[in-house]
Amino acid sequence: MTASDPKTKSISLKDYGIKNERAHYQLTPDELHEITIKKGMGREASSGALAVSTGEFTGRSPMDRFIVKDEITEDKIWWGKINIPFESDKFDALYDKVIAYLNDKELFVRDCYSCADPDYRMNIRVINEYPWSNLFVYNMFLRPDEEDLKDFEAEWTVINAPGFYAEPEIDGTRQHNFAILNFSKKIALVGGTGYTGEIKKGIFSALNFILPVYKEVLPMHCSANIGEAGDTALFFGLSGTGKTTLSTDPLRKLIGDDEHGWTKKNSVFNFEGGCYAKVIDLSEEKEPEIYQAIKKGAILENVVMDDAGVVDYTDSTVTQNTRVSYPIYHIENIQEPSIGDNIKNIFFLTADAFGVLPPISKLTPSQAAYHFISGYTAKVAGTEAGVVEPVTEFSACFGAPFMPLHPTVYAEMLSKKMKESGVNVWLVNTGWTGGPYGVGTRMKLKYTRAMIHAALSGKLGLYTYDTYHIHSVFGVAQPRECPGVPTSVLSPRATWNNDDAYYKTAFKLSNAFRHNFKKFESYANEEIRRGGPQRYAF
Ligand code: ATP
Ligand code: MN
Repeated sequence: MTASDPKTKSISLKDYGIKNERAHYQLTPDELHEITIKKGMGREASSGALAVSTGEFTGRSPMDRFIVKDEITEDKIWWGKINIPFESDKFDALYDKVIAYLNDKELFVRDCYSCADPDYRMNIRVINEYPWSNLFVYNMFLRPDEEDLKDFEAEWTVINAPGFYAEPEIDGTRQHNFAILNFSKKIALVGGTGYTGEIKKGIFSALNFILPVYKEVLPMHCSANIGEAGDTALFFGLSGTGKTTLSTDPLRKLIGDDEHGWTKKNSVFNFEGGCYAKVIDLSEEKEPEIYQAIKKGAILENVVMDDAGVVDYTDSTVTQNTRVSYPIYHIENIQEPSIGDNIKNIFFLTADAFGVLPPISKLTPSQAAYHFISGYTAKVAGTEAGVVEPVTEFSACFGAPFMPLHPTVYAEMLSKKMKESGVNVWLVNTGWTGGPYGVGTRMKLKYTRAMIHAALSGKLGLYTYDTYHIHSVFGVAQPRECPGVPTSVLSPRATWNNDDAYYKTAFKLSNAFRHNFKKFESYANEEIRRGGPQRYAF
């Protein structure tokens, strides 16, 4: 193992072929914050947080995510547009180039781990070119104590060189940036992009292979929290549907906001040690816990702020995907360690920009499996003419870009676990009400929270004709009443005030579901197929 010394805060990287005598090791958040500012790579916001620009990339680049095809991965990975193969020899050559590039750089090294359950802990070493990326790693991964560091052996290594540009024709990449997983060498190689999310989602993708294949753990793209009665809730959903927002709940202890594993002991554990929240339009009034977590130690990405360091959270000039990362202890009400058992409720979050799905509905086991495989949400995309139209997005397991195995592997594991533990599964539309995007409005966060609290505390009642209405198109059970929510909001059709337009749009969505599901039809049994919409347009 490479000699490291937490006291002198330096480490030799000779074992990696990096000639640079000493690299910074295990610097404190304060030190990294200071160094970043001194180097002119960031500014301190009035909240005390460090504000940085991630450069050319302000989001992940799924088309530049590769997996090395070798003995370990060849037969197991679901190869295709999501999991793009990379040649082993090409990886070795590119790795050498990245190492040569890092040779004369001032580097920042951090030993950390993922998976809060000691039975599944995975030690990781991250080598960063930039100090603020290393602070991100401090925030987002789990933090070993001094005792742990004495004989720390890293299982996986992340090499993160944002300033290194690949040459596609020679290196075998698509363009100058890349994130490549090598399961034989246990290396995640990230270059040409400073977007920090690539680091965390790189390790997430690795775990999404390792845990189900070797450890019988179901990895999930979901957030989790636990109530006073010790009941755990999971929130699945694609980006922007509310995983971070809704799991951060003053009434419940936060377990984690993005990545969890469900063990054979029937407990869930967080993979991470921090949160990565969207901050576009963030307000203290609506999301006080996240707002207050933005203080010294946190990193704001790509926000716009004035000379006094006051951030304008409504400003999307740099990107709509403005973010903050903070260690989980910046949130007051947390579960320590980040593990929960007694899983009682699962929420599938979708931001339906068509505004046709009920704001909350209860799913049967068949519907739960169907919706998990479908992984629906909608995006709002502008067209050249300035017309804004919602576009469906289907992403299996609510996280296809991070799932190296075939989606049915995860779906079958989840179905089995849902049945064994008898959880309630809810579909929650955090998107539009009263019409599609452009006509209706986004569902009030206050209402979504009230619906979730009602579901969690059993206030939505038993599943009977008196308490629930079966949606004629989607077949899901829509509660007739919900404490804290006006009854009119519970029926999307009623909020439209235009049955014709409502059903036309609902059929458009049910057809999109059917079309998307075609690729899974041959894998899905009759039970799962029954979980789809009940009616389609012809
Ligand atoms: P990612 O996977 O990218 O981290 P996420 O699922 O964690 O995404 P959030 O960060 O929680 O998504 O983003 C949800 C966004 O939608 C927040 O900006 C939140 O303020 C906003 N929002 C508006 N209305 C609602 C609602 N009714 N429910 C949930 N979120 C809402
Ligand atoms: Mn999130």
